[in-house]
Amino acid sequence: MNLIFLGPPGAGKGTQASLLSKTLNIPQISTGDILRSAVRAGTPMGVRAKSFMDSGSLVPDEVVVGIVEERLQEADCSSGFILDGFPRTVAQADALDAMLVRLCKQIEHVLSMSVDDEELLTRISGRRMCEKCGKGYHTLFDPPKVAGICDLCGASLYQRDDDKIETMRKRLVEYYNKTAPLIDYYTEKKLLCTISGVGTIDEIQSNILRGLEGSLRDNS
Ligand code: ADP
Ligand code: ADP
Ligand code: ZN
Repeated sequence: MNLIFLGPPGAGKGTQASLLSKTLNIPQISTGDILRSAVRAGTPMGVRAKSFMDSGSLVPDEVVVGIVEERLQEADCSSGFILDGFPRTVAQADALDAMLVRLCKQIEHVLSMSVDDEELLTRISGRRMCEKCGKGYHTLFDPPKVAGICDLCGASLYQRDDDKIETMRKRLVEYYNKTAPLIDYYTEKKLLCTISGVGTIDEIQSNILRGLEGSLRDNS
């Protein structure tokens, strides 16, 4: 099954995509995670992306489109994939359509997660990430067993630079201007499935699985 998670920063895309990826045994492809690794590794792409990410702007379309096209050709995507944080502009969605035709694949559902701005800001300001394995936590809503330490790998947790309040607001504006139009885009293609992003992490995951039930049956 080939899926897209769409939603504003902090909606819970990464959290839900990660759980679903384990249940369905298909990879989660997070352009944000891939870009952060490239920044840390200091690759030419990372160097180019860093200033955009630090300022809360979107990275240019051609950079992320290239990342996704390469990633989708890897063997682990053959039985499905979950795109988390891509596409984020209409141009990216058009480029994705074209590459899927080339790869003889198609998207089955676009899961659109909605959460109001106040809750988004609370979620983003408490978000912490593992510096080694990238797992996300929340200081209040999804805390690690030991404060500041990743449950999975024992490495330290950090707060992303772009999760600070000024950058957060800029990212929301980018979302409403450039990404929100994809809701209509995928509604027209009859792929949109709206999921409430409000509730506990487990409740939302159950709603997603229930929403996908029919397609999972058809695929098996
Ligand atoms: P969030 O989890 O808050 O939605 P991400 O980790 O997905 O944020 O993205 C962090 C940053 O990486 C974005 O603010 C943007 O600069 C860059 N980025 C990630 N995905 C894309 C994309 N598809 N197009 C452009 N920029 C992207
Ligand atoms: P996104 O990938 O959409 O930017 P994340 O999955 O990183 O969002 O979630 C943002 C923050 O909110 C994280 O700190 C995460 O632990 C927390 N979070 C995710 N889902 C929920 C939820 N249903 N209720 C409360 N907090 C949540
Ligand atoms: Zn970890």
